[in-house]
Amino acid sequence: MPKEVNRRDFIKLAAVAASVVTVGQVLPLQPKQAMAASSAPNPAVTLPVGAVSDTSDVLLRMQQELIQALKKPVEQRHWRMVLDLNKCVGCSACTIACVSENKLPPGVVYRPVLDEEIGTYPNVTRRFTPRPCFQCDHPPCVPVCPVNATWKQADGVVVVDYNLCIGCRYCLVACPYHARTSDFGANYCQNTAEAAGIIVGQQKADDYEKMPNFEYGKKWPRKKYTSPIGNARKCHFCLHRVANGMLPACVTTCIGRATYFGDTNDPDSLVSELVSRPDAIRLKEELGTEPSVYYLV
Ligand code: SF4
Ligand code: SF4
Repeated sequence: MPKEVNRRDFIKLAAVAASVVTVGQVLPLQPKQAMAASSAPNPAVTLPVGAVSDTSDVLLRMQQELIQALKKPVEQRHWRMVLDLNKCVGCSACTIACVSENKLPPGVVYRPVLDEEIGTYPNVTRRFTPRPCFQCDHPPCVPVCPVNATWKQADGVVVVDYNLCIGCRYCLVACPYHARTSDFGANYCQNTAEAAGIIVGQQKADDYEKMPNFEYGKKWPRKKYTSPIGNARKCHFCLHRVANGMLPACVTTCIGRATYFGDTNDPDSLVSELVSRPDAIRLKEELGTEPSVYYLV
């Protein structure tokens, strides 16, 4: 079952995640412009001084490869994610990093970590399965949209235009992986009593929840009757970070180094290496959805 993120945990963990995950300077763009921004070659993005030649940590290697990929035209790269189930410790740091990065409200979780007990007592163990959107190459969520608010980009990421989405939720039903959720406009701190002294106090927590997110490279203030409230929402591989040379928030926050991201059109990339391993699988292959997310089992 996906772990619930209750209000108290959210405030505590969001404060931690916010300290390790930075969005960087993202220019406010319209969604379709944002797609173009994430698609265009971006030779201006470089690694921090001193980091370029150090690929001993997989994060540095992946970031270096990401920057190389951004120099290519969009149709020449394909973003994919690999999740090593042998390394995932079920800490849910990725879930909270994503909540913090994208300012996700209650009920909207892009990357739950499924927690299962397997085996028969006393020979039991637990299996943790992070479950982002799989950015399917044949996404059933796309053709059902009556207003063409969702589509697959040339770089492999399935996106949602919040300005077009009417919130009908057809795509939620069509997704066989339950990767989409609706934003009903809730806030973690609404209707709660004053709780000054708990971490930051209610007022500060309210302020935190009203902060805009930067999905698709646009500033989305959290205001009543304003997108993305009312829209379908899903993981987008943190395109706004990727376009600026940063790995998705879940990747940088994964304490088990269980999450990998990169361009499989680069045969020398780490993710290309991983997806070709014999223990790399995709979920529900029989559906023909061709997920861009692989699991190492
Ligand atoms: S996992 Fe679901 S929401 Fe994501 S692309 Fe595939 S069908 Fe669409
Ligand atoms: S909820 Fe939005 S994205 Fe999903 S099918 Fe309806 S209009 Fe399209």
